[in-house]
Amino acid sequence: MSDKNWSTASQFIIWFLIVPPGMFYFLSNQMPEELNISYLFLFIIFSMLTTLFPIKLKGDPITLVMWVTIPAFLLYGIAIEMIIMQFAAIAILFVSKGTIQNKIQRFLINSLMMFLLSIVSAGAFYLVGGQVGSTDFWSLLIGVSVYRLIHTAANIGFIKFYLQIRGMKSLYTKKDIGYEFSSIVLILPLALTFYFLLNLVGAPSFLLMGVPFFLTIFFIRQYGRSEKVNEYIKSVGEIGSSLSVLTDVDQVTEKFIMKSQELFNADIVFLFNNHNQWLELDKAYDKPHLLPKDTHSIRLGEGIARMVLSTNEPVIYTKSNDFKQFSISSVPDEIESVLCIPMTHNNQTGGILLLGSNRKSAFKDYHLKILELLGSYYIVALEKARYVTEALLKSERCALTSLYNYRYLEDRLHYEMERMQKKDIEDLSVIMLDIDRFKVVNDTYGHQSGNDILKELAKVLKGVLPEDGTVGRYGGEEFIYLLPGFSKSEALEFAEKLRETIRQHTFSIIPDLSSDKRKIEVNITTSIGVTSAPFDTDEAMALLRNADRALYIGAKQAGRDRVAVYVK
Ligand code: GH3
Ligand code: MG
Ligand code: MG
Repeated sequence: MSDKNWSTASQFIIWFLIVPPGMFYFLSNQMPEELNISYLFLFIIFSMLTTLFPIKLKGDPITLVMWVTIPAFLLYGIAIEMIIMQFAAIAILFVSKGTIQNKIQRFLINSLMMFLLSIVSAGAFYLVGGQVGSTDFWSLLIGVSVYRLIHTAANIGFIKFYLQIRGMKSLYTKKDIGYEFSSIVLILPLALTFYFLLNLVGAPSFLLMGVPFFLTIFFIRQYGRSEKVNEYIKSVGEIGSSLSVLTDVDQVTEKFIMKSQELFNADIVFLFNNHNQWLELDKAYDKPHLLPKDTHSIRLGEGIARMVLSTNEPVIYTKSNDFKQFSISSVPDEIESVLCIPMTHNNQTGGILLLGSNRKSAFKDYHLKILELLGSYYIVALEKARYVTEALLKSERCALTSLYNYRYLEDRLHYEMERMQKKDIEDLSVIMLDIDRFKVVNDTYGHQSGNDILKELAKVLKGVLPEDGTVGRYGGEEFIYLLPGFSKSEALEFAEKLRETIRQHTFSIIPDLSSDKRKIEVNITTSIGVTSAPFDTDEAMALLRNADRALYIGAKQAGRDRVAVYVK
């Protein structure tokens, strides 16, 4: 038997040895002579309702059930009070969370505790001269005050003791104890009023007291709900701002999924992208992981998400029977509740978000509104990340050739130089090339055709780019290769091949200066300068200067269409 089972069993034995015989004793000896069964029934209903709809102060429920049990006690004595309290212990089961075993344990402990508390507080009541059935206000006030004080103190003491022997942390903070005691001020007048009213008018007291009491509870609970909504809105705001600082599209989506899961305690989260009315799974979370795209058996564009896409209306399901007919294979079997919203931006549905929970009725209407709000933060953050990514791309690339631009090349050169200094690579070579007599090309065929040649040359340059190397446009018709790991002689060899490749390549252009728009073929040659670190220098920018010098002095001045290495 596991520890847990054992402790449930031992608790049951203790409970069984004390509560049923004790109850039997009190029921046979302390039953009131006259008992109005409908009063008993109403007391039980009231105590259970009070327990089922607790009100909370800063998240902690406060015990109010004694507004019912005290008048019952004053009217009929301890036996009836005990019965009502035991029903309240049963009602606690419906509001407490946890497994069946936890609930059984909780019932046993609550039942035992309430039984003992009934005895202790009734004893204290009699001790200070209280009398059941009395109508003497002052003696009742004293008796009931002591009753409630002892009840509260014994309750706290009992729980502390119980948690201590089980090695658990105390539930009560000073603040909680303060709340418990101050609730006496609320309970006593209510309980006494109830009791006197029962003596005075009988059964209608249940209406006169019950209606205002339960209505007040209702309003307080409504208020509590709006507090909860406020909390949610605050969290959504925080999540929104944490999304908005991310610049990576994937990160934005991942964080959004994880935060939605956390906020709503969901067991699954699916995000679909809308591609012209086809839904494609973007990211999926299935407790406790984000799933890679292809591992999940989600059929695309079907089920609930498909329906939400076509109606463009969000849906909530509180139990699986309500959606079984459309879910096909999308939603796992354990899922009971579903919340699904379209994510709309500028009147376009960019995607569908689906949250599922293994619990029934996990999502309420207000969750839907909150999810929509969170979704709108996500869409804005996503747009922003896309924009930033694109801007970054633009700032690193040349618009004409899509090759890296000078700014990027310079950063990359420093980075490669650091790699060399850290001995990740032994050499770093730089090749600079310049088209020969390009001005003539422009003058002959037009600037537009010159541009077309530059674009095509960029493709040729990329086509021969070695792995780990970088090629970029240095300016005008000048290009640079950064070749990490290339010694000077290897770079020279590469440059020779490159020069030959370009020389052999035929560029097709439609001259923009001619009127007949016919394709013609043009050949170009290039002059190339080669330099290498650490052979020529240890300094990044010196590599550029060296390559430039080799190019102009060694190659251009020597007649063009050739490769020159840097010499000091
Ligand atoms: P060489 O390099 O062999 O000395 O002769 P070159 O005619 O190429 O002379 P230089 O390098 O000094 O001139 C570069 C020319 O390239 C000037 C300009 O007309 C042309 N050029 C530079 N950038 C562009 C561009 O983006 N598009 C076009 N069509 N032409 C460009
Ligand atoms: Mg040139
Ligand atoms: Mg030039």
